[in-house]
Amino acid sequence: METSKLHAVILCSPGIGHFNPILELTNTLILHHGLKVTILTATTPPAFQLLHSPEDLNIVTLPPVDISGVIDPNATAMTQIAVQMPWFLSLASYCQVLDKEVEGQFGDRTEPLRIPGCKPLKPEDTIEPMLDRHDQQYRELVRMGIEFGQSDGILLNTWEDLEHETLEALRKNEELTSLMKAPVYAVGPLTRVPVELTGARDSTLTWLDKQPRESVLYVSFGSGGTMSADQVTELAWGLELSGRRFLWKVRTPVDSGHADAAFFTGGSGEADTADVILGKFLPHGFLTRTSNVGMVITRWVPQVEILSHPSIGGFMSHCGWNSILEGITKSLPMIAWPLYAEQRMNAAFLTDEAGVAVRSKELLGLKTRDEIKNMVGSVMEENNPMRKRAKEIQESAMKAIEVGGSSHKALNQFIQDCMSKLQ
Ligand code: UDP
Repeated sequence: METSKLHAVILCSPGIGHFNPILELTNTLILHHGLKVTILTATTPPAFQLLHSPEDLNIVTLPPVDISGVIDPNATAMTQIAVQMPWFLSLASYCQVLDKEVEGQFGDRTEPLRIPGCKPLKPEDTIEPMLDRHDQQYRELVRMGIEFGQSDGILLNTWEDLEHETLEALRKNEELTSLMKAPVYAVGPLTRVPVELTGARDSTLTWLDKQPRESVLYVSFGSGGTMSADQVTELAWGLELSGRRFLWKVRTPVDSGHADAAFFTGGSGEADTADVILGKFLPHGFLTRTSNVGMVITRWVPQVEILSHPSIGGFMSHCGWNSILEGITKSLPMIAWPLYAEQRMNAAFLTDEAGVAVRSKELLGLKTRDEIKNMVGSVMEENNPMRKRAKEIQESAMKAIEVGGSSHKALNQFIQDCMSKLQ
């Protein structure tokens, strides 16, 4: 007779960057905590991501409609899962106060923004939704911050050692907890583990097999990050001038200023074919001149398998939270190149707090080939201190998720709290 298992139903917001950590959370809940899980999602994940999915997982793909309002935030036993870091959660929750206290645009300030109990946010790291207070995105952020505080609990994709101070502020700082009443559980890092791909080995991996250990910089701007045509050209020159090996996942440039132009299509809806992108936007002769050291690819690639490959020695990333976690759990130093959403805040965390990344001085404008060349040189340097620091962080991440580690315990506690709410 089948024993009755706790059945969790998870509603996942659109976008592969939201789906991936949910899938990992689900795997952990099933394999290590004995639950049964159904995911409701509007995102169709690449098939390899579902390889080795456990039996108790059921995925229901919904038609592409707005599902953000499907669950009432006041419903019982409902939990919000934030895929971002605690610092962002603190800011989002406190935004309702900043909204009343601060006059004018946040980005025009000279003083950092105070977030109770947390590291202040420098004006240059202001998150994208806060750049224009008249914009719908900003109003959504304030609303979301209020809703976070009213939920029954928040799972965070991080771990105690990585962000202890901010987690403590979310639990104990009176000013913050008067707004953010929900308990927070640090249950990460929830990152996909590399899988043995079926069929022919992906061409990116066979290319990496031939490269020396830790010699290749992986360059990718997530599932939807895009940049201007001029910036793509400068990046190509910067990579070439660095003389380092690289694997570059490139996307059709967009000059509209919308750096997240491909977020919801995740690249599956690329307007241009690979030949067009490569021929039209890369400097003349670039592919030929770099053919011995570089690989350029326009399609969806198995990022986790790439980052886990021993030939990878550094990661240039748009600083989506999944990519950050995937990079630091492989102990890779990074070039932080934020594009949209809360990525500038993530980049500030990586460089100023975690000490595993460099970033450009040029925040919104064009990053030049020389600066890019220098950044590539410094992260790929064999004995750079960022590599050592990344290794330490990777070790602390592994400790957190093992049985008895802080994240494992936090997920157990969360399940117990759910059970008591259901009784
Ligand atoms: N990703 C991938 N192949 C690609 C591009 C992205 O597997 O070609 C995955 C990547 O490993 C990560 C996710 O897509 O898990 C992107 O999430 P992230 O939070 O880094 O950025 P977002 O795309 O949400 O901005």
